[in-house]
Amino acid sequence: MSYHCKACNKVSTTPADLARHIMGRGDKAHREWLASKGLKYSELLTAQMKSFGGEGYAALTKLVEKETWMDDQLVSAKSSTGAD
Ligand SMILES: [Zn+2]
Repeated sequence: MSYHCKACNKVSTTPADLARHIMGRGDKAHREWLASKGLKYSELLTAQMKSFGGEGYAALTKLVEKETWMDDQLVSAKSSTGAD
């Protein structure tokens, strides 16, 4: 199982890593994805700075875990029907 960023397709093995990635990017595509899920980048950033790595990421990590995980077996089954 892995986590796939909906904004840029980066793949992470843990939701916490992908959450860090999304906050680290913070560009339009990533902010818009957050907004579509009911979170605000600016609020996450504020929570993040107040708590030094705590609450801001906790909310986002939970969301990432729920919204971006993909079953690797499903993904490889799909790609094996491709060109090779
Ligand atoms: Zn991304």
